[in-house]
Amino acid sequence: MKLNLVAAPSPDFEDRKDTVQFIIIHATGCKTLQETFDCLARRHVSAHYVIDVDGTVYGLVDPDKRAFHSGVSDWEGYCERTGFKGLNDASIGIEIQCGPKEVLENGEVCKFDNFSNDQIASCVELCKRLMRIYNVKLDHVLRHSDVSPGRKYDPGETFPWDIFKKMLEKK
Ligand SMILES: [Zn+2]
Repeated sequence: MKLNLVAAPSPDFEDRKDTVQFIIIHATGCKTLQETFDCLARRHVSAHYVIDVDGTVYGLVDPDKRAFHSGVSDWEGYCERTGFKGLNDASIGIEIQCGPKEVLENGEVCKFDNFSNDQIASCVELCKRLMRIYNVKLDHVLRHSDVSPGRKYDPGETFPWDIFKKMLEKK
C-alpha cells in the first residue's frame, strides 16, 4: 500500500535519550485536523505523525527525534529501569484524527467518534514500516490508555484494536 505522506513540521521535539522500542497509538479528540494542529502548537506538544480522516499521514517530527506525546507513562517497568518518567524517549507517537464523543469534567476525552477505514489502513501500513525500520515488537505497539491508565483513554473503544493488531501480524 502506498502512503500519502505530507510534511507538517512541528518545532516541538528534542534529541532522544534512548532507542525506539515502542509505538504508541493516540486519538486526537479534536473535531477537525486544524483544531488538532492548533491544540498541539498551543500546548507545545507533538506526535511524530497525525493521520487524517482520509488516510493522509502528516509527518510532524522525525522519528529519530523525541516528540512530546505520551507524558507520564510506563510499560513493563521501563521507568524504573531507566529513571525516565515516561516513554517518549523510547517511543514513536501516532495520533489519529478523531472527534470527541464524551468528555470528562477535567476536560479529558474518554470516548471517541468512529475511525475511518482509510485511517486504520494508513495506520497499519505506517506501523508496519516503523516496526521494520526500528525493530519494534508487536507487543510493544500500545495504546496511550495502556501506558497511561486512568489518566488517558485514547484511542478508546471505537478503535478496532484486536483487528488492528492482527493486521500488523500479516507480512
Ligand atoms: Zn494520547
